[in-house]
Amino acid sequence: MNLKSLQYYNELFICAYCAYCVDNQASCPTYHSVLHEIVTGRGKIITARNLAQGLINSEEGLNALRDGLFQCTFCGACEENCIVDIPLTKVYSELKTLIQDRLPKSTHKLFENLKKEHNIYGLDQEDRESWSFEIEDQYSKWVNLHHDTGFFLGCVYSYSGRAGRGPVAVLKLAEMANEKISIFSPTEYCCGNPYLLGGQKAKAKEFADHNISEIQRLGIKNLIISCAGCYRVFTEEYPELIGKDLPFKVISHMEYLYKLIEEKKLSLPNKSHLKVTYKDPCELGRHCGVYDIARDLLSNLPGVENREMTNHKEQALCCGSGGLIKTNHPTIANEIAVRLISQMEDQNVDLCVNACPSCLLNIDENLKIEGSKIESIDIAELVLNRTNDS
Ligand code: SF4
Ligand code: SF4
Repeated sequence: MNLKSLQYYNELFICAYCAYCVDNQASCPTYHSVLHEIVTGRGKIITARNLAQGLINSEEGLNALRDGLFQCTFCGACEENCIVDIPLTKVYSELKTLIQDRLPKSTHKLFENLKKEHNIYGLDQEDRESWSFEIEDQYSKWVNLHHDTGFFLGCVYSYSGRAGRGPVAVLKLAEMANEKISIFSPTEYCCGNPYLLGGQKAKAKEFADHNISEIQRLGIKNLIISCAGCYRVFTEEYPELIGKDLPFKVISHMEYLYKLIEEKKLSLPNKSHLKVTYKDPCELGRHCGVYDIARDLLSNLPGVENREMTNHKEQALCCGSGGLIKTNHPTIANEIAVRLISQMEDQNVDLCVNACPSCLLNIDENLKIEGSKIESIDIAELVLNRTNDS
């Protein structure tokens, strides 16, 4: 194995052993569960470097690397805190290409699902509309139309039931504001994030090409995305995969809803006091730098008070659902969520407000397990709840 051909090979040799990526501020969420350094930035970098220098047995080294890479939530806290600015998440993505012959078993099932049905669950593509059951009678009026604004749902919002209330809220708010949006759920493919997280760029590109061509078919100029993972993949990965800029603009659903409020297209009367806390999704925050729009949106909702958790914005805690860890190590994913929930409880809030369906669901599941009174909802649901018509 020749690690010298890796794009980020030189980064393996600049680690200062400082451990800022292990236990500092947001720190490594998985490390706090497994207490084994192989899962951290430093652990993976040192293992890869030892492999490159032939200092460890290749079989053992690659297996250790596999375990470290697949117990990582891809939250980016290590990169945020790295003292010498190693682009750690990019290094992890590249290292995954070295271990394609030893991927965890549950990852095989996920890839089969994607191959067969183009979604992470392996469910019928026709059921991709199942999120819209609340607006069933009106669904067709949004589908496959030629409008400037489009809406990409992604697999989790499309199939997971509870999280589907988020996109339903976006459409209801768009309707109140007399806006036209085109959705193309029936022909959407997964954004390709699981392939990228599994180190399979070529397959992710096939999905990127398909989705981009569907968006172009409808003449969409502005694409709304409400899933943090899809947002990261479209904005950070697709341009690299296709080798050029996207032929349309991507905006988060928060940016879209904020624009509707700014243009006075939504009526937001005074309502009772509500204490909420916004959970910065790792893939939207640390990966894409999207922080302020959520705060701006919440501050425009009368009666809503956003109470920041001790760790927020760049140092926000991970919810535990990213990086395929919920698929491969659900217990670790739950333990990470419980530590986040403890910071919410400290703020004595009524709601945890999300901009990512994976965060929403993992937090929701663990709030219930913990017997908490806090409810986990999508930020679009909260905006809808604060309008006149709800
Ligand atoms: S991305 Fe997150 S989980 Fe993975 S090593 Fe870095 S801090 Fe730990
Ligand atoms: S923070 Fe960066 S330099 Fe420090 S141990 Fe981690 S990877 Fe190495």
